[in-house]
Amino acid sequence: MGSQVKAICKCGYNKEVLIGGGRLNFKTVECFPCYCENCHDMVQGNLKADKLICPSCGSSKISSYNNKHLIGKKGNQIVEQSFNNVLTDGFYKCPKCEEMNLQFFQGGILWD
Ligand SMILES: [Zn+2]
Ligand SMILES: [Zn+2]
Repeated sequence: MGSQVKAICKCGYNKEVLIGGGRLNFKTVECFPCYCENCHDMVQGNLKADKLICPSCGSSKISSYNNKHLIGKKGNQIVEQSFNNVLTDGFYKCPKCEEMNLQFFQGGILWD
């Protein structure tokens, strides 16, 4: 089953993205947060697709958030995991302010 994470940056950016896939489509669908250079936004990519493209603009200039250049500082705790792709409680690159101030939280956690 898929789960949801919340990405929050100090600049005010926040986004909810699904992770993983369903039981029936896990062979073809694996959702994971990705950074789209074209949209300057976090998008939900499918890591199992033949070609990783942005679902909003169709650009292939996207990289998943387990890519080293999007990780500022790796955390010690795993926030969410899909197969061998993990999101930690470390700091990631924000698509809006482009600072390494973005953090992932488990979906459903209230934030004020
Ligand atoms: Zn895009
Ligand atoms: Zn930001």
